[in-house]
Amino acid sequence: MINMKRTTYCGFVTEKYLNQEISLTGWVNKRRDHGGLIFVDLRDREGIMQIVFNPDFNQQAHVLAHELRSEFVILVSGKVVQRDANLINKNIATGKFELQVTNLVILNKSKALPFALDEDNIDEETRLKYRYLDLRRPDMFNKMQLRNEIIFATREFFFNNGFIDVETPILTKNTMEGAREFIVPSRIHEHSFYSLPQSPQMYKQLLMAAGFDKYVQVARCFRDEDLRADRQPEFTQLDLEMSFINEEDIIDVVSRYIQYILKKVQSIDVQLPFKRITYDYAFSNFGSDKPDIRFDLKIQDFSSLFVNTELKFLKSVIASGGKVGGLHVSGKAYSRSELLAWVDTAVKFGAKGLLWVRFNEDCKHESPVSKFLPDNFFDQLKSTICPTLKAGDTIFLIAGEYEEAWTLLGRLRLEVAEDLKIIPHDELNFSWVVDFPMFEYNKDDKRWYSKHHPFTSPQAGWENLEQKDIKARAYDIVLNGIELGGGSIRIHDSAIQKKIFNMIGMTNEAAQAYFDFLLESQELGYPPLGGLAIGLDRFVMLLTGSKSIREVIAFPKTQRASDPMMKAPSEVDEQKLELYRLKYLPKKIK
Ligand code: ASP
Repeated sequence: MINMKRTTYCGFVTEKYLNQEISLTGWVNKRRDHGGLIFVDLRDREGIMQIVFNPDFNQQAHVLAHELRSEFVILVSGKVVQRDANLINKNIATGKFELQVTNLVILNKSKALPFALDEDNIDEETRLKYRYLDLRRPDMFNKMQLRNEIIFATREFFFNNGFIDVETPILTKNTMEGAREFIVPSRIHEHSFYSLPQSPQMYKQLLMAAGFDKYVQVARCFRDEDLRADRQPEFTQLDLEMSFINEEDIIDVVSRYIQYILKKVQSIDVQLPFKRITYDYAFSNFGSDKPDIRFDLKIQDFSSLFVNTELKFLKSVIASGGKVGGLHVSGKAYSRSELLAWVDTAVKFGAKGLLWVRFNEDCKHESPVSKFLPDNFFDQLKSTICPTLKAGDTIFLIAGEYEEAWTLLGRLRLEVAEDLKIIPHDELNFSWVVDFPMFEYNKDDKRWYSKHHPFTSPQAGWENLEQKDIKARAYDIVLNGIELGGGSIRIHDSAIQKKIFNMIGMTNEAAQAYFDFLLESQELGYPPLGGLAIGLDRFVMLLTGSKSIREVIAFPKTQRASDPMMKAPSEVDEQKLELYRLKYLPKKIK
């Protein structure tokens, strides 16, 4: 009788099994027919083992082995033997051995796969439609395995630091965190809807009201946003909250957590404390609140040089309170066509234009606006804004409203640095960005929004400041220009909470209607508190060197928020809608 239980994984066959009878299960990775002998690479999640069919070992198994095709699922048993020295395969861990098969059971057959597992350029839609095949690739399995290790180590770290892991509801109510929420109709409560949580924000605050003191959760979150390059409608956050603490405590525990994970999972040592920079510094120097500070190339303010310019465009920008920002690029003398390509890049980012000034061998300037620049422009620049200016350097300028111009320059800075090859790609540079503005103004909606969320505490002295000048007790953790996570110290006084709601245009009535539970909790013994959330998918993506978070999520949605495998979302029939007292309106997008 053949033993239907495998002895070990294919990838785990070692010396210890030599000359022993064992059973293995797995997928036929490759079959090679060498006349009398049939060789199969048998694959399971741990690796590959070569198995051999020879009529001398077993006639019946050898005959049956002719039927084997790629991706058949089989069970085999036989003796582990040493391969001849000249046949050892150094590319696989089990390369010294092979299994002489005496029994073969075909557990499942496979048609030809829609793509070969070792093919590289398969379009993503196909990969997601057959995600279970895509996940058969060792590379994908390894990523999932590393994710598993990260999550295990995460739970271990927080458990050891006194945090309590609490699961919070998925069917809930809008948390006002800024994104559009998914809604779920209630059958029992007609005309009523649940929201899927953008984060467990409200619950974690209430757990602090409950006295839990330290909370953590690997939490699923949902945001119904138009998907940009690397967003998913559902994603995983490492969510935490603590009571009786300040910014330093959160920054400390999260820094130590990151240090712990890197050491444990990647054997990488990172030094604490991480650098700290203010939002204002980050934005004015790097045009971003998540700056990549692995290289310098700072944005500089060139406005003072153009106060008396004859250039109409710049003149009007400065007159209307705008600025002229720029990058001083050294180390590469651009050709004209390269300069034009940079103009195109800036325009692609949304800039109205990009002004360049190139300094030739004798430091004379060349630029489309050369005739408007003074003859001594080089000296002027060198003695004021660019002390290291030299022949061959280029200045790129973008003029406009400060936030807009600097954001564009921030993007250009990254592209230019990539092109100059000055980004040390193997460096891990963590930094904390602090002192965020409390609010941001939306010109289209003509109203203020919370920059983080409305539960964030303003910094001391806020009562006497204009809305635009109020700073928040918020902090973000940034790695190599990517925001890994963020959080804040929360408001714990209902009167302040109401005022902040008012400042983003929410009336007291609306605040009561949405957040009566929170405001009430803040009057029933509510501790000072704060927390943070880290985008776990992104963290895993960076640690696995993946290009997108879709690579580290087992079953992600496409960039159009759909699942081509299960075919979600899908229509439900009218009868079902009727149960919810819902009806279709004609489609807006055909
Ligand atoms: N809930 C916030 C977020 O999802 C994080 C926090 O403030 O703790 O970004």
